[in-house]
Amino acid sequence: MKLNQRGLLIVVSGPSGVGKGTVRKALFDIKNHNLVYSVSMTTRKPREGEIDGQDYYFVSKEEFLDGIKNDKFLEWAEFVGNYYGTPLDKIEAQLDQGKEVVLEIEVEGALQVRERMKDAVFIFIVPPGKQALYDRLKKRGTESEEIIKQRVEKADKEFLLAYKYDYIVVNDDVNNAADRIMAIIRAEHAKTERT
Ligand code: 5GP
Repeated sequence: MKLNQRGLLIVVSGPSGVGKGTVRKALFDIKNHNLVYSVSMTTRKPREGEIDGQDYYFVSKEEFLDGIKNDKFLEWAEFVGNYYGTPLDKIEAQLDQGKEVVLEIEVEGALQVRERMKDAVFIFIVPPGKQALYDRLKKRGTESEEIIKQRVEKADKEFLLAYKYDYIVVNDDVNNAADRIMAIIRAEHAKTERT
C-alpha cells in the first residue's frame, strides 16, 4: 500500500485553444479539493481582466532571462513570441506539505517536467475536433488572425506528442473534463505500489 504523504504534481497540458485554462478553473471550482495552482511567469502582456500574481506573474524579458540564468524555473518555453515558465521555489514546499500542485502549461514545458519529476501525472487535453480549436481561439478574440494561425499550426505538431502523457481528456464539455481530471487524481491516490 502506498502511504505517501507527499502531494501529487499534476501537469495539465495540450494545444493552445483547447480550453486548458477553462478546464483548470472548473477543476478548482469542484468542492473539497486540495489543489493549489502554480502561477506561471510570462513576458506576454496581460489581457483585459488578467491579474498579476493570480493569472500570471507578468515580467519583463530581462527579468525572465535572468530567472533562466539563475535556475529559477522547473521548466520554461518560448511560445509564439513570448516566454512562459513555472517558478520552482514554491512547488517543492507545497508537495512536501501534501498539497496537489496543478501546472497548466504547453507541451514543450510539460515534457521537460516529465524528465525532472518522475512521480508527476501528465494529462493531455484535446478538443472534440480540430475545428473547435480554431473556433475557440477566434471566439476568444484576444489574438490576431496571424497569431491564431501560428497557434493552430503549433497545435498540429503538439498532437503528435500526446502518446507521451499518462492520460488524454477530451474537452467536449468543461465540467465533464474537470470531473474526469478529478477522477484521475483520485485514481492516482488509490494506486498500489508495484515492484
Ligand atoms: P496564453 O498566452 O494563452 O495564456 O498561454 C499560451 C500557452 O502557454 C498556453 O498553452 C499555456 O498553457 C502555456 N503556459 C502557461 N504558463 C506556462 C508555463 O509556465 N510554462 C509553459 N511551458 N507553458 C505555459
